[in-house]
This record gives sequence, structure tokens and C-alpha cells, in this order.
Amino acid sequence: AAPVITVDGPSGAGKGTVSHLLAAELGWHFLDSGALYRVTGQACLIEGVSWEDEARVAEIARGLDVSFSAAENGEVLVAYKGKDVSAAIRTEEGGRGASTVAAIPAVRRALLARQRDFRRLPGLVADGRDMGTVVFPDAPLKFFLTASAAERAERRYKQLILKGESVSLPRLLEDIKERDARDSSRAVAPLVPAEDAVVIDSTGADIEQVFAQVMKEVTL
Ligand code: C5P
Repeated sequence: AAPVITVDGPSGAGKGTVSHLLAAELGWHFLDSGALYRVTGQACLIEGVSWEDEARVAEIARGLDVSFSAAENGEVLVAYKGKDVSAAIRTEEGGRGASTVAAIPAVRRALLARQRDFRRLPGLVADGRDMGTVVFPDAPLKFFLTASAAERAERRYKQLILKGESVSLPRLLEDIKERDARDSSRAVAPLVPAEDAVVIDSTGADIEQVFAQVMKEVTL
């Protein structure tokens, strides 16, 4: 099977940036598993299904018509039923929807095979919460990136301001703490490092430093 490097951790720990850089550096495929949960949440809004309606959300996840493509500027475009939802899924509401539907076991089961389909030669960098623990437990190299909640809130704040969203920092910190609690305490695929993961705390570090630390481990 093609090799996989998993990059797990809470939101705002720098996972997305680091794993994109890593995939580009290696010339490997990339799985943004969070996008699958975000699109599932978005599809519910579009289809008029409540995030709390477990049976119907699972049905949405099973039949999810999602596609990924590269925009000219290198950004990844995400489409649901052929319609671009890239911006919608990246909002705070998109994050809440993803986190809510991700707590439904049948949704996680529905998305499992789809995530494993991304494993292709020459290799895959998989970004998420349970890549090393559940989806690719046999991955030869696993990372778990973390950072303090305060620092993650600040990073998120800067991103949202750049996008022109009006947000409050204390509110974001609350949201992050709430989501952390929900993600780490849920019964299915709680957010914990795999036993064999390399844990990197990026508090106070910039992306270049974290990426250098990651690359030191890559000897594949
Ligand atoms: O990584 P991202 O912020 O896009 O993920 C959004 C939400 O989707 C997370 O808060 C988490 O609840 C859920 N998620 C998950 N398992 C993954 C990826 C994301 O439960 N592998």
C-alpha cells in the first residue's frame, strides 16, 4: 500500500499549513478530512436537514457528492453537487456544523472508506483528528500538533480578520475551548494522539520552525 503520513491535532495548531507544505515537498496526495465533515454539515444546511437528526445526517454523509479541485492560485476548491462551497465551509458556522455532525458514529463510519480512497502512490499526507488512530492506524509516520488554546484563538482571529469576517477574540477562545472539549470527550474517535505519534507543541513557534521539526522525522 502507498505510504501515509498522518497529521492530527486540534484546530489552529497549524496542521493545515504544515500538512500542505509536507505534501507539496514530497509530491504526495493530500487529504483534508475536516473538509469532508464540513461539507457534510453544509450539505445538511442545503438539503434542509438538521445537524441533530442523526439518521438523516448519516444518509447525507453516505451519499455525499463532494469533489476537490485545485484553483489557479493553488487553493483547493471544494464542491458539493458540483457547486463551490469552499468559502461557506470555512466560516465559524461551518466549523460548528462539522464538529456537530462529526460526533455522530454513523457519519464517521460513512466517511471512513472515502478517506481511505485517498491513499494512492506515491503517498498521502492526511490531515485531521483521527488519521493516525482510526483511519490510517498502520501509517509509518504520525504527527500530533498542538498549541495553547489562547495561541490557537489568536491565529484563527488573524485569519478571519484577513477574510473580512467580524469576530471577537474572547468569543473565538470560548468557541475553541468548547470545540476542544467536545472533540476530546466524544465517544467516537476522541481527539487524542496515537500512541506512536510524534507530538509537536507549536506554541510560540512559527510555521517554518514547526515544518523544520516535521521534516527532521521524514526519512521515508
Ligand atoms: O480540521 P477542521 O477544522 O476542518 O475540522 C472541522 C471539524 O471536523 C473538527 O472540529 C472536528 O470536529 C471534525 N473532524 C473530525 N475528524 C477529522 C477531521 C475533522 O472529527 N478527521
